[in-house]
Amino acid sequence: MPGISINGRTKLYGIIGNPVKHSFSPGMQSLAFQHLGINAVYLPFRILEEQLPRLLDAFDLTGVKGFNITIPYKEKIIPFLDLLSDEAAVLQSVNTVVRTDEGWKGYSTDGRGLVRSLEAAKVAVEGKKITIVGAGGAARAIALSLLKAGVSGLMICNRTRSRAQKLADLLNSHSSGISVATAESVQPGDILINATSVGMETNDSPVPGDLLTECGMVVDIIYNPAQTTLLQQAAELSIPSMNGIDMLLYQGVEAFEIWTGKAAPVETMRQSLVSSLYSE
Ligand code: NAP
Repeated sequence: MPGISINGRTKLYGIIGNPVKHSFSPGMQSLAFQHLGINAVYLPFRILEEQLPRLLDAFDLTGVKGFNITIPYKEKIIPFLDLLSDEAAVLQSVNTVVRTDEGWKGYSTDGRGLVRSLEAAKVAVEGKKITIVGAGGAARAIALSLLKAGVSGLMICNRTRSRAQKLADLLNSHSSGISVATAESVQPGDILINATSVGMETNDSPVPGDLLTECGMVVDIIYNPAQTTLLQQAAELSIPSMNGIDMLLYQGVEAFEIWTGKAAPVETMRQSLVSSLYSE
């Protein structure tokens, strides 16, 4: 792999958030630049909310080319941007920003990240009936990208039904094709996707085990732990399943490609994530 030599032409990218020190993106994106011999570095920036109004001026002055955004600024950054992608405009959430000739442009790559992770695993979503459990930020992004990818049915199940309905209303007002349904209790689907945080801190599962027998595949977007109780349930029933590491990977791949216009070195980026996540 070609090394990087930092010099007067080195470009600067980064991630903003608070906290940001646990992010895997600096390792993953820096390795990707290095792998392709791109003269760029990617750094973490811990930003306080009161600093946000001055951030883009500071990035203009210092020549930052693009950056990611993590909690808690995915919505709060929007008033300071010049342009939004179609997805980011619908979701009112941005996790990737690039400097363009027209100014700073925001994108939301989480949903495409999930769709690309399924494509990479050769799982077709077109024509499938999908159940999403959860209606938070990740569920919103995933739902929009799945609709664009041509699913034939979308059911959003959330313990707070009103939040699921709000998301369904948003999606129904932006997609001409299928009607998005909601439920409080979890319903089966050809592919069932857990987009809640249930299973991250505890051994709970958001889905009753007997319902899984009616599902063709289970995706848990949680990546740590690598195998949640939901994924264990699926394995015991021999139902194909996938965790969230490849969604995390492909949201970064999309960001890299937006910034550089080049195909990202996916395997290198995956190895970086796997080694930072699972080898501690
Ligand atoms: P969020 O906006 O806070 O939404 C959390 C969702 O989980 C809501 O739908 C919430 O339901 C539900 N929930 C929380 N506790 C619950 C419980 N005890 N029982 C039932 N439902 C519960 O969070 P988010 O940003 O969407 O993230 C959700 C998960 O996705 C997290 O685990 C996060 O790590 C993961 N994630 C993964 C990736 C990836 O790249 N793989 C990317 C983004 C997020 P209510 O509406 O009823 O509160």
